Amino acid sequence: MSYDIALIPGDGIGPTVVDAALPLLDDVATEHGFDIETTRYDWGTERYLDAGAMMPDDGLETLESHDAILLGAVGHPEVPDHVTLNGLLLPIRKGFDQSICKRPAVLFDGVDSPLKGYSGGDIDILVFRENTEGEYADIGGREHAGFENEVAVQSAVYTRRSTERIVRAAFEAATERSGHLTNVTKSNAQAHGMVFWDDIVDEVSEEYPDVEVERLLVDAASMDMVRRPDDFDVVVCSNLFGDILTDIGAIVTGSMGLAPSANIDPGRDHPSMFEPVHGSAFDIMGEGVANPLATVLSGSLMIDHLGEDAAAADLWDAVTEQLADDDAPRTPDLGGDSTTKTVASDLADRL
Ligand code: ATP
Ligand code: MG
Repeated sequence: MSYDIALIPGDGIGPTVVDAALPLLDDVATEHGFDIETTRYDWGTERYLDAGAMMPDDGLETLESHDAILLGAVGHPEVPDHVTLNGLLLPIRKGFDQSICKRPAVLFDGVDSPLKGYSGGDIDILVFRENTEGEYADIGGREHAGFENEVAVQSAVYTRRSTERIVRAAFEAATERSGHLTNVTKSNAQAHGMVFWDDIVDEVSEEYPDVEVERLLVDAASMDMVRRPDDFDVVVCSNLFGDILTDIGAIVTGSMGLAPSANIDPGRDHPSMFEPVHGSAFDIMGEGVANPLATVLSGSLMIDHLGEDAAAADLWDAVTEQLADDDAPRTPDLGGDSTTKTVASDLADRL
């Protein structure tokens, strides 16, 4: 069996972490009797600065034939974030119907949480973020520039199709895990979209009578993910709220450098995309000290999605084992002084 992966290393530390993770994916594939073929696409802000576009016009058609996409990070200090987002990430997520964004936030053994009293194993959260619409629908406009009646409108869109998809994925995961689901909205202040969202959760919950649903408003949820993160298991929320909550999840579990994510088309009509939660982090670019583990874990989610569960588990376990080992190399974000390459080669040894 051979899987055909599109690689988009991207900008900043993106290429560093992707190049570190790739040989590990190869190792684990060989061990489990399959191949990973990759095609590299140098798309991102360099291309934008040269040619005026993050990716070619037919970028989606090019990606379409691949089994999955592994992305490093895109973003550049001199390019506005909305260009990066609308020039590459959102077209892929929306164009490929990747309505499910799955982001684990795990406090691994051997990793310190900045939260007092929490140690390895205490936090294990799985966030399901709607990924194609909601507050990121890109519908709105500005009128009467410079006048007192100037107005900007930014609409949020919640369709039954995408909302049901994300909610159902969260219920499925809750069924496999502890049977607890936290539904995060702002339905006190947003009486149309968010009350609709709550209604969908109520409807779908009838199919999953064994899952206990807790409702939290996003303000309370943000506070509680810091105050009592160990009470959370599966969380489901809209695009914007998921963006914010998963940054909280990443930092309470020790480092942005450890958080993986999956952008999944539940219909499996198009390739899904796997990427670390962190961005291009130009502040540490070129120093060779970016933590590659978020990308390795994203690779594990990718292999799992392709159906190679045992290989995915091996990769995840090697990371778990490395982090639990006091003598193992660590990058500076985890308090160590090792390089990206040293951490990756130690993982290769463990595999
Ligand atoms: P974006 O604009 O996409 O959010 P960013 O450049 O702001 O990207 P973040 O991902 O938000 O970067 O990361 C915030 C900070 O966390 C970085 O500036 C960097 O110092 C640190 N960081 C992020 N990823 C890593 C990593 N893989 N290894 C080590 N440190 C990281
Ligand atoms: Mg950032």
